[in-house]
Amino acid sequence: MSRRIAIEDRLRRAVAEREREGLARQVATVHQREGALLVADGEVLVDFSSNDYLGLRSDLEGVAALQEAAAWHGVGAGASAMVSGRHIEQARLEADLAEFLDYPRALVVGSGYLANIGAMAALLERGDLCVQDRLVHASLIDGARLAGARLARYAHCSVEGAVEAFATGPGQPALLATDAVFSMDGTTAPLAELALLARAERALLYVDDAHGFGICGPEGRGSVPAAKLGAREVPLLMVGFGKALGGYGAAILGPEDLIEGLAQMVRTVMFSTAMPPALAAANRQLLGQLATDAWRRFRLAGIIARFKRAAQQHQIDIGESDSPIQPVMIGDNAATMRIAAKLKAAGFLVGAIRPPSVPHGSSRLRISLSTLHTDEQVDGLVAALAQLLPAETRSESGEPAASRGSSTGRRATGDEPNLLPTRVANFGA
Ligand SMILES: *Cc1c(COP(=O)(O)O)cnc(C)c1O
Repeated sequence: MSRRIAIEDRLRRAVAEREREGLARQVATVHQREGALLVADGEVLVDFSSNDYLGLRSDLEGVAALQEAAAWHGVGAGASAMVSGRHIEQARLEADLAEFLDYPRALVVGSGYLANIGAMAALLERGDLCVQDRLVHASLIDGARLAGARLARYAHCSVEGAVEAFATGPGQPALLATDAVFSMDGTTAPLAELALLARAERALLYVDDAHGFGICGPEGRGSVPAAKLGAREVPLLMVGFGKALGGYGAAILGPEDLIEGLAQMVRTVMFSTAMPPALAAANRQLLGQLATDAWRRFRLAGIIARFKRAAQQHQIDIGESDSPIQPVMIGDNAATMRIAAKLKAAGFLVGAIRPPSVPHGSSRLRISLSTLHTDEQVDGLVAALAQLLPAETRSESGEPAASRGSSTGRRATGDEPNLLPTRVANFGA
């Protein structure tokens, strides 16, 4: 008889391995957030890591809607909608979403992750072909795996790559899944071309607009109208409420019959407690504000432009993104962690993104910009980056820091970066 490997030991080894590779995660305890500031582990930091792009998370009308509905309906939903019925607050949210996004019907799901794995697992069967961009969100990969589908992944945003991926399974039922705005790169998928390809291939197109919803398109209606497409070209659309909307949860939108089919088949809906009515009411209030609060998007566009301009002036390599997600590529895991730690010491919280969130060798800082940031905070972050990045690259390349530092064009005096948060005084204890 062979001796079993203890599963606990295997887990411990996997964690130790991650630690050796500089991939272990440390999660800070956040005590308070106010505007773009947060207190984490006793330090006040400017938050450049959250997806609250429009500052709606703490909007008073959203909070009031949550409180009011909780007073009427309690904290939880009590059961799955399948069992106890769909609450009127959820029905209203679904109706408003369908109207706002111009789709026949919406189905609310607990979260974006649950929506994607549930939909993939319901739509795909063993041996089906699932064509995906190489950089799609983990939930789309996990869902296709759960279904036992064959994954064919193509180079990031490459339509030719997608054509080749379809050619690997000409006779199989096929689904094309992509993020509209990629969560770690801020890049935009070529949706119009992918929609044409999907139609030509008789494949079902599923677009995840977690990061475009609320940000792009008229009134923040998202990446589909921004690409001049609609429900005909993109039959299934996933939008999340946890990012720009500042809430929590998600919905899948599509034609009446397909959404009814998903409502019947998605196991993460059927076997999971429904969205709390109060949360549905709050999400709905915030949805209404996407259209009315146009100033939030205008202000965000100004912040993005300011960041990109400043980064270019300091010769910081920030890639192609016009979205609030701005990656600064580092490559090495340990160097990414070091820079993030130094930024934290300077008062800035940025995401240090490493595998498995991104491919090996492409670790990066993920800077996410928000309506809530002040010009000074953005300038301060860029100045800190301009100071820290050359020193780090010197230790890799052997190039002296001084020569690179001088090439960044920073003026010598009277222009020192303001590394301190500007609103600490308002923060309270
Ligand atoms: C965040 C995200 C999800 C998951 O959404 P949650 O509501 O956070 O579970 C899915 N897809 C993409 C592209 C995301 O960025």
